[in-house]
Formats: sequence, C-alpha cells, structure tokens
Amino acid sequence: MKLYSTNLKAEEVSFEAALITGLAPDKGLYMPKELPVFSEDELMALKDEPYPEIAFQILKRILVGEIDEESLKKITYDAYNYDVPLEEIDGNTYIMRLDRGPTASFKDFAARMMARLMQYYLSKENKKLTILTATSGDTGSAVAHAFYGLDNIKVIVLFPETEVSDRQRKQMTTLNKNISAIAIDGKFDDCQAMVKEAFADEELKHLNLSSANSINIGRLVPQTLYYFYSYLKLRNLPEEIIFSIPSGNFGNMMGCLLAKNMGLPVKKILTSVNENDEVPIFLNTGKYEKIEPSRNSLSNAMNVGHPSNLARLIAIYGGVMDENGTIHKMPDMDKLRNDIVSISVTDEETKATVKDFYENKNILIEPHGAVGIKGLLDYRKNTGDDTLAVTLETAHPAKFPAEVSSIIGIDPEPPQSLKEIESKEEKMDFLDTDYENFKEYLKEKLA
Ligand SMILES: *Cc1c(COP(=O)(O)O)cnc(C)c1O
Repeated sequence: MKLYSTNLKAEEVSFEAALITGLAPDKGLYMPKELPVFSEDELMALKDEPYPEIAFQILKRILVGEIDEESLKKITYDAYNYDVPLEEIDGNTYIMRLDRGPTASFKDFAARMMARLMQYYLSKENKKLTILTATSGDTGSAVAHAFYGLDNIKVIVLFPETEVSDRQRKQMTTLNKNISAIAIDGKFDDCQAMVKEAFADEELKHLNLSSANSINIGRLVPQTLYYFYSYLKLRNLPEEIIFSIPSGNFGNMMGCLLAKNMGLPVKKILTSVNENDEVPIFLNTGKYEKIEPSRNSLSNAMNVGHPSNLARLIAIYGGVMDENGTIHKMPDMDKLRNDIVSISVTDEETKATVKDFYENKNILIEPHGAVGIKGLLDYRKNTGDDTLAVTLETAHPAKFPAEVSSIIGIDPEPPQSLKEIESKEEKMDFLDTDYENFKEYLKEKLA
C-alpha cells in the first residue's frame, strides 16, 4: 500500500510511515494511491460473518504486505468487542448506532484500531512517540481511551474549554497515566491550528510527535468497515444503498467514499452538516470559504469551519486543495455532485427531529444523529428517492444530557462506561491560544 500527499509535494510512503507521522511533510494529507476492489462474490461470502470478521477480511486486503495476518486478526477482534446495532425505523430506513464503544461515540471505531496498529509498529521497532490531538469533544476521549496505558505512547489532548460537555471533558481528564488534557481558552479551530503548527515546527522534531486526528490515515481506514458491515447485513449485491452521515471534519464520510471506491454499491452519500455550511455552499457554488470562527451549533462535535478532510475529498475527484483551504486545481464537480449531497440543518430542525423521533416513533437520538436523519428526510422529499438508507447515530444520547433533556425533558440513561467516570478526580492544564506558550509546555512536559 503506497500513500501520496494531497499537496503532491512529498514522497510516497508506506502505511506504517503514514500512520506514525500523521501529516505529510508538505502539510498535505496522506491518501492511498490504490485500494483493493472487492468483487460481488468476495463481499457476499462475508454476509453472515460477525463485525470483527468482516472488519478483518476487509482490512487484510487493504493492508496487504503491511502487517502479518495473525497480528491483524488479533488486533481487529480485540478492537471490535462491542455491538453495532442496526435499528429499523421503517422498511427502508435504518439507524446504525455507532455508540457502543468505551467512550460511546463512533470515534472509538477508528481510535481503537489506530492505537493497536501504532502499538504494533512501535513495539516491533522499540520506538516511542507522543500523540497530539485537538478535539471538539469526542475525538479526544476516544483517542485517550484507545491509547490509555500503552507503554510506547503518550497522549496530549487539546480541547476548547467552554465547548465540550461535562461528560466529554471528564472522559479526557480522569484517565491520567500516559494521558494529559489541556483546556484551551479558544475554539476547536484554535486547538487544531496549534497542533498543526507543532507538527510543522522543526524545533520540536526531536519530540517525535504524531497525530491521531482525522488527518491520520489510520483513522480513516477503520471508518470504511461499518459501511461494509451494514450493507452486508441489510442488502445483497448489486443492490444499492444510501448512507446519511452527520459530518464535521468529514472523516466519517471519507470512510464511506473509500468503501464506495472499493466496490460497495453506494448510490448517494448524504453528508449533512449543522449551521457550519461551508461544504454545502461549496457544492452548490464551486466556491470554498472557511467559516472563521466556526459557528456554535447544538451538535458541537461538528462545529468545524474548515474541515480537515476536505483536501482528501477534493483529491479523490482529481483536484488539489492545500492546508489553508485554497483550491489549486478544481475537482470534477459534476462527478462530486452526483455522488455526494450535503445539506445544512439548523439547530431548530435538529431539535424538532429529536423531538419527533422520541414522541412519535419512541426512538431516542441525540443532536448529531438528528442532523443525519434530517438530511436524509430532506433528500427523500426533494428527490423522491426511496432507496434503502442507513443513517448513522454517531454518539450515545447520554453524552449530551443537557441538550437532549432540554428538547424532550428526559435525562438519557448513561451506559456503564459513562457512569464510571462521574466520581473520578479530574486533572488538566490550562493554556491560551498563543502557540509559543504551547510550545514551551510541550518542551517541558516531554523533556
Ligand atoms: C466527530 C463527530 C462527528 C463528525 O465526524 P467527522 O468525521 O468529523 O465528520 C459527528 N458526530 C459526533 C458525535 C462526533 O463526535
């Protein structure tokens, strides 16, 4: 497996190298040059297998030559030891609940796999590294949990102090050991910018920094797997399917697009956003403008004004976008618009969807999942397309108790993993958005 950088100015690397470095040296994002394409027979042979086996069989082909099969199988079964429920809404609409991992968000799928792959490569070479990650809430906790207690890896998580929920924060600040959390007096985009600057800083090279954000290819590859899984449980080749994905940094939707390019018959990818509508505007007009600062919407894990995976999306369609969001070569917009639909959902619509599902269908969802559902309902209304669709619930409703209870008046019962952290002691550091302060902090902390 060879990977290239979306800025096209860095050398091609192996999966291991891309996984360990995160960002390419030219500040581009790594993308696989080629992916395996699964035949109808190959996919259908997996139909009755459980999640970890489907995951292993797909990964085995993607990572051919990068890891021995026995280790990969062990890692995959160890990472995916929880349920992936598909809940029927009506005959042709399902909710895939990706919230049964240890931190109750879909980010567990990527983080757990990536941590185990990194550990595999590092321990083989007896190396150590530090993961720096910026989070709008759920990445940080999923990454912290995924790496918790590993010998070769330290984790430093930056989060916007006032933009994460109490539970999200506690998931990052109550672990300790090899995990440090920093509350930043700023927004998610500030956290992301500080992390990116640290990666590019020659003076910090000796610290062996790596990323675990959705910019890491190791996050993207595992996010292809649940699309295969849900398709196989609900459809038979060559029937088509629609996925509706509530999106922020567009890593989740990139997983779907890669799955499509590996032979999964995905008719449309609906990638709905909250009031941060830079991508729907780009698809409509062909003009891209970041939203700075990003807007504070109810679905706070999707408050992203410049999605980091956009450069990858554009690369797949033959364009080039640099790390600042400037497009140097336009992608094939007709093809892009044919495959992908992006709708902006307001907070009012999000609330109305949570309420409607709870009161009229007895189905509990949280604001992120509601954005995906509303996107699907609008798409169906606008097009009349009633192809079977799977809409993703990306977090457990109990991760957003204040938001959910303000809409429907009930406090969702937390899963066991979330209950345990309530009484634990929190430890964190505080910093402003000044990069030089952050740099000093890193030098001291990692000395
Ligand atoms: C991160 C996150 C998203 C957005 O996923 P992206 O891959 O960044 O588009 C959606 N919902 C929840 C709950 C999240 O934590």
